[in-house]
Amino acid sequence: MTAILVINSGSSSFKYQLIDIDTETELAGGLVERIGEGTGHARHTNTASDAGRQEQNLPIPDHTAGFALMVAAFAEHGPQLADANLIAVGHRVVQGGSIFTGPTVIDDAVQQQITDLADLAPLHNPAHVQGIIAARSNFPDVPHVAVFDTSFHQSMPAAAYTYAINTALAAEHSIRRYGFHGSSHKFVSEAAAEFVGRPLAELKTIVLHLGNGASVCAVDGGKSIDTSMGLTPLQGLVMGTRSGDIDPAVLFHLHRKAGMSIEQLDTMLNKESGMLGLTGNGDMRDVEDAAVAGDAVAQAALDVYYHRIKGYVGNYIAQLGGLDVIVFTAGVGENSGIIREGALRGLEGLGIEIDPAKNDPFSRVARVVSTDASRVTVLVIPTNEELEIARETRAVI
Ligand code: ADP
Repeated sequence: MTAILVINSGSSSFKYQLIDIDTETELAGGLVERIGEGTGHARHTNTASDAGRQEQNLPIPDHTAGFALMVAAFAEHGPQLADANLIAVGHRVVQGGSIFTGPTVIDDAVQQQITDLADLAPLHNPAHVQGIIAARSNFPDVPHVAVFDTSFHQSMPAAAYTYAINTALAAEHSIRRYGFHGSSHKFVSEAAAEFVGRPLAELKTIVLHLGNGASVCAVDGGKSIDTSMGLTPLQGLVMGTRSGDIDPAVLFHLHRKAGMSIEQLDTMLNKESGMLGLTGNGDMRDVEDAAVAGDAVAQAALDVYYHRIKGYVGNYIAQLGGLDVIVFTAGVGENSGIIREGALRGLEGLGIEIDPAKNDPFSRVARVVSTDASRVTVLVIPTNEELEIARETRAVI
C-alpha cells in the first residue's frame, strides 16, 4: 500500500483524507474545526473499521494542536500511518496566481510565495499556510505538495483571461481572470472522456460544477480555455450566497446612493446575494422544495439561476467551436435532476436533450442523462477533488 494524506485547511478548521493511491480508495477521513474557539471539535473515520466515526470536543488552540489531534486519532482508531506507507502530504491551495501552473513541492520559498499571494485570496491563502506550517512540522519526513485551484486554468488564452482595463494598472495589481475549482474541472473532464470512451485530446466539454460555490469551465482537448470565475470566486454563475456576474456600476451606484462602504458591498455580494439574496435561503435543496411546492419567489430565483447557466453554455459552445459533452458535478449538479433539466431546457436546437427517464432517478454513480438521439452527451459525474489532489501530488514527487 502507498498512501497520500490530503489536507484542505481553512482559517479555523481543516479537513483531511488518507488515500490509498494505488487503489485510489479512501482509507480514512476527518475534520478538525472551531480551532482557536472555546471548544473545538474533531471527527475521524477509519473507513475500513466498522467502529463508525469518532468524535471529540475539546479546546484546540491552533492548527499545530489540531494536527497533533489528527495524528493521535490515526494512532488510536487507525489506520496506522506507519503501516499505510505515507509517501506525501497534498495541500489544497485556492490561489496560485500566474506563478503556479501545476502541483508544486513545498519548500520555504514556495511557502512564502503562497503567503505573498494572500493579496489575491485574503480569506484562503493565509489559512492554507497555517495548515502547511502545522503539517510540515508534524510530518517532516515526507514531501508536502501544493495543488492549486487556479492551475488548471493557466492554459486559458490571454483573450479569455484579460479584463478590458488599463494594461499597466492590471499588470501592477495582478488583475486578470484566474478561475477556481480547477481540481474538480480537471478530474471531471478527464473522467468524462474515460466514461464516453473517447480520447481526451479530441473532446470538447463543458463542465458545470454546481455546488454552494459554482463555476463553468470550457475544456478543449483536456485543457481549460475559459471559465466563469474570475480574479476571485465571485464572478460567473448565481451561487448559494454570491451574486456572480453583475454590472460593476451597481457598486458605484450603491456606494453613492445608499452610502454603502466597500466592506459592506463586499459582504453583500459574497455572503448575502445569490440564492440567499433572491429568496432568503442560500440552500438549493430548500429553494428547490419551495419551488416544487408552488412558491413563486423560489421559482423566479431558479429562473435567474437557469438563465445564467444557459448563457454560459451558449458562450462556451461558441468559444469551443462545438461541443461533445456537458458534465454536471458537485452538490447541486450531482443530486438535482430538476435543476439539471431546468438549466438545459430549451437547448434542443443546440443538440442538447435531457432524457427524464435517465435524469430523474437519484443515483450516486457516473451516468448519462441525455437521450440516445442527443448530439451532445450529458453526463453526471461525482467530483472527487481530494483524489485529484492525491493524484497530482503523486505525479510531482
Ligand atoms: P461546496 O461548494 O460547499 O463544496 P457542495 O458541492 O457540497 O458545496 O454543494 C452544496 C449544495 O448542494 C447546497 O446548496 C445543497 O443544498 C445542494 N444540494 C445537495 N443535495 C441537493 C439536492 N438533492 N437538490 C438540490 N440541491 C442539493
